[in-house]
Amino acid sequence: MSDSVPHHRVAIIGTGFAGLGMAVALTQAGRDDFVVLERSGAVGGTWRDNHYPGCACDVPTPLYSFSFAPNPYWKRMYAEAEEIRAYLEEITDRYDVRRHVAFHQDLTGGSWDEEAGRWTLLTGPERVPAYTADFVVAGFGGLSTAVFPDIDGLTDFAGSLFHSADWNHQVPLEHRRVGVIGTGASGIQLIPKLAETAAEVVVFQRTATWVLPKADRPIPSIEQRLYAALPITQLAMRGVIYGITEALGHTLTRRPDRVRYLEALGRFHIRRSIRDPELRAKVTPKFRLGCKRILFSNDYLSALDRPNVTLVTDRIDRVAPTGVVTRRRTGSRGDGARGGDRGDRDGQFHELDALVCSTGFGPEEVFAGLDIRGRDGLRLTEAWADGMQAHRGTTVAGFPNLALLSGPNTGTGSTSQVFMIEAQIRYVIDMLDTLERTGASTIEVRPEAERAYNERLQDRMANTVWLTGGCASWYLSADGVNRTLYPGPSIEFARGTRHVVQGEYTLTEGAARPQSQPTPAIPAGASPL
Ligand code: NAP
Repeated sequence: MSDSVPHHRVAIIGTGFAGLGMAVALTQAGRDDFVVLERSGAVGGTWRDNHYPGCACDVPTPLYSFSFAPNPYWKRMYAEAEEIRAYLEEITDRYDVRRHVAFHQDLTGGSWDEEAGRWTLLTGPERVPAYTADFVVAGFGGLSTAVFPDIDGLTDFAGSLFHSADWNHQVPLEHRRVGVIGTGASGIQLIPKLAETAAEVVVFQRTATWVLPKADRPIPSIEQRLYAALPITQLAMRGVIYGITEALGHTLTRRPDRVRYLEALGRFHIRRSIRDPELRAKVTPKFRLGCKRILFSNDYLSALDRPNVTLVTDRIDRVAPTGVVTRRRTGSRGDGARGGDRGDRDGQFHELDALVCSTGFGPEEVFAGLDIRGRDGLRLTEAWADGMQAHRGTTVAGFPNLALLSGPNTGTGSTSQVFMIEAQIRYVIDMLDTLERTGASTIEVRPEAERAYNERLQDRMANTVWLTGGCASWYLSADGVNRTLYPGPSIEFARGTRHVVQGEYTLTEGAARPQSQPTPAIPAGASPL
């Protein structure tokens, strides 16, 4: 290894909520020897990359923000993307972490160097060694790899084609015919905005999804001043919102039958927003609310009722250079499951000038493009051949001194992802403290502990609405296993990651290989999950 490759105690990947939060926590813990690798030229993660019209948070921002940095001046209850991006920029400076950020460092791989007891991080398509670090914290986020639909002829489309996560603002869409594939969290935010100016918006919906009213409102300046003068008032607001989202999480994971009360609200929202009974029927979901991510909007359903918006529920057959060809539905399982209908070839042609794919992200594909190798050259993708999993969502056996923020099963179907990220950050700080307290140089989760944790987690998953609700969703991997969400209260996840339980880990001195040890018992008092 060339001496010119800089070495740090800790390397953090990414500058979204995860990477920046980790950087701030290290700074506050008095740890200055770290670098943050950022592939682009600015901080902000998903809030930098997603700037489609109408992009906003769907969790109230007093909760969807760092606990250590409340912002009394949020303009709305659900902040727009640009305001959240600016918040993250401001945090970067306020906590003086910008000097640690190395921009335009596209991490493409990393390998554990057994001899040196450190990670070598590789950047760029050629995978050039760029940094070494004793400890790596990966904060890529689960939603950083946008996925285009696998539809015949898509790349032959001659008009403008782009993904919602990579919006092309150079393309004028006013007075044009715009097609939108996908009606998930992104689609329902951008469709009403497009409908305001486009000549025609053709919405291709594969599965109708539950949409609930959004308790959004502008926050008046008097209320902002109150939060600034008396921070406890905003803290109380945060507490109330957290309580509501936790109650929702409890229902989704423990009492999915009770979501029928919210389904009634969803049906009322449809009736209130749409006049045409046929259109109402088309947008009424046929699966349990919460099975797919619950959507919140006050303008999506009513936008579908506009004269310049057409909702197409026939399956897309192919994309032609000038539009989209659909095939008529002749039968459907009607359960929202993929590939459940048949269609004849008597298709209808929808002529379009532009086509937007708001078709989501691939949480598992984030790692597929990275060449990460742990002990004995074990690739992360090999370790996860049967599906991704981690211990307490954070550590993987065979990969010492590596922590994944927003790792497997750390997502939430109800509350703020920032809450989960902060819990993991505290866990990583405790890992670093444990290393120093014990004089060890590596910390690695025991395979038995990781296995036992995930068995318990998947046992509990079985009763959640995500598996029982009768839908297909991006929460599930191809084999139908939920490897993205945590099947319990977020407070419980936070308790389980408050401290490193040493019995779950192997600590080694120097670069020594860990000795095989008996299966650890979960110590009394430790959270089982
Ligand atoms: P998504 O929820 O995965 O939705 C993708 C949409 O594309 C679905 O309607 C899907 O239909 C459709 N689709 C995919 N492939 C298709 C195909 N081949 N043909 C037709 N339709 C197809 O993606 P997203 O809307 O980008 O949201 C992803 C996640 O990002 C959310 O769940 C949320 O966690 C996050 N997000 C958050 C916010 C926020 O405000 N905080 C905003 C946007 C996104 P099916 O339903 O039939 O699969």
